Amino acid sequence: MNTVTRPRILVVGAGFAGVGCVRRLERRLAAHEADVTLVTPFAYQLYLPLLPQVASGVLTPQSIALSLRRSKRYRTRIIPGGAIGVDLDAKVCVIRTITDEIVNERYDYIVLAPGSITRTFDIPGLTDHAYGMKTLAEAAYIRDHVIAQLDLADASHDPDERAARLQFVVVGGGYAGTETAACLQQLTHNAVKRYPRLDPALIKWHLIDIAPKLMPELGDKLGREAQEILRRRGIEISLGVSIAKAGAEEVTFTDGRVVPTRTLIWTAGVVASPLIATLGEETIRGRLAVTPQLALPGRDGVFALGDAAAVPDLAKPGEDAVCPPTAQHAMRQAKVAADNVIASLRGGPVQPYEHRDLGLVVDLGGADAVSKPLGVELHGLPAQLVARGYHWSALRTNVAKTRVLTNWMLNAIAGDDFVRTGFQARRPAKLKDFEYTDAYLTPEQLREHVTGAEGRG
Ligand SMILES: Cc1cc2nc3c(=O)[nH]c(=O)nc-3n(C[C@H](O)[C@H](O)[C@H](O)COP(=O)(O)OP(=O)(O)OC[C@H]3O[C@@H](n4cnc5c(N)ncnc54)[C@H](O)[C@@H]3O)c2cc1C
Repeated sequence: MNTVTRPRILVVGAGFAGVGCVRRLERRLAAHEADVTLVTPFAYQLYLPLLPQVASGVLTPQSIALSLRRSKRYRTRIIPGGAIGVDLDAKVCVIRTITDEIVNERYDYIVLAPGSITRTFDIPGLTDHAYGMKTLAEAAYIRDHVIAQLDLADASHDPDERAARLQFVVVGGGYAGTETAACLQQLTHNAVKRYPRLDPALIKWHLIDIAPKLMPELGDKLGREAQEILRRRGIEISLGVSIAKAGAEEVTFTDGRVVPTRTLIWTAGVVASPLIATLGEETIRGRLAVTPQLALPGRDGVFALGDAAAVPDLAKPGEDAVCPPTAQHAMRQAKVAADNVIASLRGGPVQPYEHRDLGLVVDLGGADAVSKPLGVELHGLPAQLVARGYHWSALRTNVAKTRVLTNWMLNAIAGDDFVRTGFQARRPAKLKDFEYTDAYLTPEQLREHVTGAEGRG
């Protein structure tokens, strides 16, 4: 079979959206109908909602990193690297491989699913001193970092240093920030028992957000309940407050407070992958504006979904709403994107995406949780069962389900050993080092690169 004559489908990103799309293409397309290629820097699909549990040590990193090569049915060609620009006119995706080679990949159909990165603002010192909670490496790094603060505080004779190392600041009162603060507070609360020379009262967690409420999606009652649970556990919540300045040894809040700390975790929202800006097409708050069929208007064979795309939310008619950046939507959009690629390939009709939100589950660590599945408000153990049951059933493979369940049981029975691995000690640990935000081409560099390569080729 001459592979050159087969249409080439290129999927960018191996997250909820990209992997869901690839798996459906593999199932629904015969091998002779098209070649499917996936570009991804990592060899796994990360189950992001459970990331705070990796940071807190309830789960091992491997348990939420789902292999892309588990089955022989997975016939997609995988390019290990990141897309750094897409030239829609030339139908070329420029990729930086994991060995830093730049390659041009031609396509007939492209599915853009590179997800999002941590959203930052122009706050002095922020990008130099804050850690995110968006990648597996960040979660593992933060775990080591937090345990290191306990180790260093324990060893120090300086009361000021001790106090600073035992204060932690999390910015972002959405579900990612709230779960991160809750899970990490539980980590330090449990770990400090192994440090008899440390005064547990010195450990202070701050959770701050510029918004007037935590997780507004939960509604007033559950939101207040979540706050109450966290306050009872000693987390100081400040609403209507953000960061004015971040330094290596202190953080200044917008209300004037200066908090000596070595730990600033920034989870104040996400913004679409910088790859989207290289396209030079219309965006809505940075996300690529697509039709309800997930297609880019005016460009044949270009689809986008997940956190990177602004997909009209047809479940909210007349509101001009776009789907929120959640795994819930990304997983479901993946199926529609794959079906619409296949329909375009075969000359059939494409379908719109519509999904009514199923609600929210928020795991606050241990038996604490709040959930609102299908509008039903739950807290405590029932909420925790729903939260864990939901995530467990959403894990794509049986082996991941088994790993996660085993980890949960082991942690419930034996607890944590609070081991600091040191694997990432002394490596650069800024947001850009974990999220590769400076790897992308500008639209001009992209054009120059593709035109130059075509001239040579
Ligand atoms: C801590 C946390 C908790 C969350 N909890 C929930 C929750 O409880 N419920 C919920 O519904 N959602 C939750 N979310 C949001 C959810 O994880 C995202 O909405 C979802 O992951 C989006 O899916 P995606 O496929 O668009 O992006 P992702 O899953 O982020 O996947 C994007 C993929 O693209 C890859 N990539 C990035 N750039 C490139 C590039 N240039 N080239 C190639 N590949 C690239 C990335 O490595 C990644 O594999 C949470 C997010 C976080 C961070």
